[in-house]
Amino acid sequence: MTALRQLEFPDAAPLELVSVGDWWRFAVSCLVRSDAEFGQSSADAGQDALFLVLGALDLPLDSFDQMHGFALTNSERKHVFNALRKRVLDRVPTAYVLGFAEQMGLRFVVDERVLIPRSYIGELLAGGLRDYIDDPASIASVLDLCTGSGCLAILAANAFPDADVTAVDISADALDVARENVALHGLDDVVSLHQGDLFAPLGKARFDLIISNPPYVTAESMAMLPQEFRHEPELALAAGDDGNDILRRMLQEAKAHLTPDGILLVDMGHNRDLVEAAFPRLPFMWLATESGDAGVFMLHARDLP
Ligand code: GLN
Repeated sequence: MTALRQLEFPDAAPLELVSVGDWWRFAVSCLVRSDAEFGQSSADAGQDALFLVLGALDLPLDSFDQMHGFALTNSERKHVFNALRKRVLDRVPTAYVLGFAEQMGLRFVVDERVLIPRSYIGELLAGGLRDYIDDPASIASVLDLCTGSGCLAILAANAFPDADVTAVDISADALDVARENVALHGLDDVVSLHQGDLFAPLGKARFDLIISNPPYVTAESMAMLPQEFRHEPELALAAGDDGNDILRRMLQEAKAHLTPDGILLVDMGHNRDLVEAAFPRLPFMWLATESGDAGVFMLHARDLP
């Protein structure tokens, strides 16, 4: 829905706003009036405002019911106001304003060097892929391609505690953020990070499970990308005319890096039709998540060319 009025953003924190609830309400209105875009770490204005206000106040993101009636100090009011100004006037996504994002209850440090965590693979991993993998102990090695912040590698390490996790990204900058997150979650001995193009840094290594949320945005969508998404690295999003540039190369090499019973799990967002059109012979199995049908497919090593 397009707001009818342009936002007149105040010059200073309005004095009438006292409580956490007041600030949440104000933030929702500002986001709606400014036609803010969502979908990076929150689905709508209500969620985004919740994340922004509670996050800026260092309160747990699920504590609104307890906290909404409590007052902010003057310095907290300034701080929340400045965060909201960056979000609304500069169109900076809330996760970058705050410097973190949460995925499946885990907190990850993020900034403009990495994509904001949001892949449905996170949800699938948190459920241990129970519907698809009979014995989680059979997963001894996991590879996360295009690891970005390292979020999926870290969720995989938690989902498969017996597994060694390898994570690769082409961006050295992204790997610096991933390294920070791996340390934050105490997984330095479990997750190893490598810089390079897809499988290039891995030699002949094979894995029981390969996961990836690769760049898959089409050239047409890149041209129409809302401002918020332009704060994310183009390298993490753009994937050629049909959005399949990275996937195409991944599929060529995946079999050589999977064990005989290995599984490949890839998030392709809304591009299911484009993927099926480009690879008509591959028996993609599209996985359902609790939050609805998602663009994550599974292929077995035996299905791959
Ligand atoms: N694996 C990271 C994520 O899912 C980064 C993905 C990317 O940069 N394309 O958030």
